[in-house]
Amino acid sequence: MGKILVLAEHDQHALKDVTRELLAAAARIGEPVAVVVGLPGTGDALLAELGAAGAKTAYVAETEHAEDVLATPAVLALETVANTVDDIAGILIASSVDGKDVAARLSVRLNTGLIADAVNVEESDGTVMATQQVLGGTYSVKSTVRGIPIITIRPGTIEVTQPTSAQPSKITIDIVVDPVGSGQVVARDEDEIASSGRPDLRTADIIVSGGRGIGSKENFAIIEQLADALGAAVGASRAAVDAGYIEHKAQVGQTGATVSPRLYVAVGISGAIQHLAGMQSAKTIVAINKDANAPIFQFADFGIVGDLFEIVPQLIKAVNARRSDELINI
Ligand SMILES: Cc1cc2nc3c(=O)[nH]c(=O)nc-3n(C[C@H](O)[C@H](O)[C@H](O)COP(=O)(O)OP(=O)(O)OC[C@H]3O[C@@H](n4cnc5c(N)ncnc54)[C@H](O)[C@@H]3O)c2cc1C
Repeated sequence: MGKILVLAEHDQHALKDVTRELLAAAARIGEPVAVVVGLPGTGDALLAELGAAGAKTAYVAETEHAEDVLATPAVLALETVANTVDDIAGILIASSVDGKDVAARLSVRLNTGLIADAVNVEESDGTVMATQQVLGGTYSVKSTVRGIPIITIRPGTIEVTQPTSAQPSKITIDIVVDPVGSGQVVARDEDEIASSGRPDLRTADIIVSGGRGIGSKENFAIIEQLADALGAAVGASRAAVDAGYIEHKAQVGQTGATVSPRLYVAVGISGAIQHLAGMQSAKTIVAINKDANAPIFQFADFGIVGDLFEIVPQLIKAVNARRSDELINI
């Protein structure tokens, strides 16, 4: 197999975890090649980390517009590399909001196919095959593309392999970003971004989600307390969002966020297919529900049948006790 381009997601100083996952996926099927788009200086800042994550080469496009123009800089950089470098077998991009925007635009520019929300990639008879979970996770679909496949991969679904220590070779590419005609960032609400201090829902390792069973906005504090004890992000079912217990950005499911954490704790959530569609690829699912026949138990790895208002406080106490024991032992 040839080279697999990976669009690096980063905060200008450090790689996001999903980039390591994409590079690990690329290494399974071909030669991992990173494409970095950032402010001036970003390429050098990220080079060692990219090498440790397995990138053999890094194409670096630096522009003052990296943070204030949406999608266009990354599309231009990937298009330039795809049109000038030989032997490209695939392009991997994170299934983030920005990643999917870039992937869709790039597929039009390169006139090639796009497979979105994959949970795995493999090599099959010299082509890149992607696996998606569809119809609420009821079916796994394997598909490929004639030409160079562009594949977006859900964060959290790929095991990261052992790091390497080789420094990738850096190749600078020039892109000219014209902000006119592109989506632009005109303001940022830093208070909103920093307010909870919890991990980002879409990339969190652990998520605690509450449903209609929580009963009220005030009661939803119990979900936040369990999330804080576990260092988790807070999620919710649509019923909880519609009832006003929590804001829409916490919604998980078909019309909310798609997540793949290591641990998903569903509290007072029945397990409707539209909710499962957003979280079924979680590695371990724990469900707490007073109805032993709730559909969520068919998908849960661990189930607790009982009243959440009795169980969750005990869970918080046990997690906090365990944490302070560990702290004392250090
Ligand atoms: C087009 C469309 C898109 C949708 N998109 C989404 C989506 O993105 N995400 C989503 O979540 N839903 C979505 N839905 C809605 C979905 O169909 C369900 O209505 C919703 O997921 C139900 O939420 P819930 O499980 O919190 O509520 P319910 O189904 O009402 O379940 C509440 C659960 O809490 C349990 N419970 C109650 N009290 C307690 C207690 N004290 N202790 C323990 N357990 C208790 C009950 O036994 C019950 O199982 C969508 C629907 C449509 C039609």
